[in-house]
Amino acid sequence: MGWASGNEIFDPVAETLIIEGASDALKKSVCSALIKALRDRDWDTEDESLGMFEHDEAIVEAFRQNGIILECHEEHPENPWQCEEERNHCGSHRDDLGNTWTDLGSLDRLISKFVQIDKGSECEFQGVVTNVQPVEQSNGKSARIVEMEHDGQWGFVYQQTAVKVTENPEGE
Ligand SMILES: [Zn+2]
Repeated sequence: MGWASGNEIFDPVAETLIIEGASDALKKSVCSALIKALRDRDWDTEDESLGMFEHDEAIVEAFRQNGIILECHEEHPENPWQCEEERNHCGSHRDDLGNTWTDLGSLDRLISKFVQIDKGSECEFQGVVTNVQPVEQSNGKSARIVEMEHDGQWGFVYQQTAVKVTENPEGE
């Protein structure tokens, strides 16, 4: 049995920190310690408090440090898959079984990010995205041409293509 009353302790403390204008560092360390202490006592409704303070990045980070994130929960248009990545994540959706799918309309947000595009058996390419252009496939479905910074490299991205935002290995 979990313990739901943790919110009655966490929420007023977090609210007071905000009202008093605590720095991000202070909010983060106080909230993180409090979340840990409450979870040690079986607090299991943390996501409600996270939802209440989802607009405060320092508090969201305190939850993240304790392994608690707001999930994207986007559903695959055909399959019974639900995304478990963090809300507002970049790149493909991914469920708890590792199924991935890509929301083509969100690819614009990848411009200037370093990404890895995995096309299964075909090929894999990576680099900093410089441009994303919509195209129509011969079957009438839409796709995107993703252009990369180096050597005019580009590739097609379909809904089933996995796109992952990663660190640039060259550290640029
Ligand atoms: Zn998602």
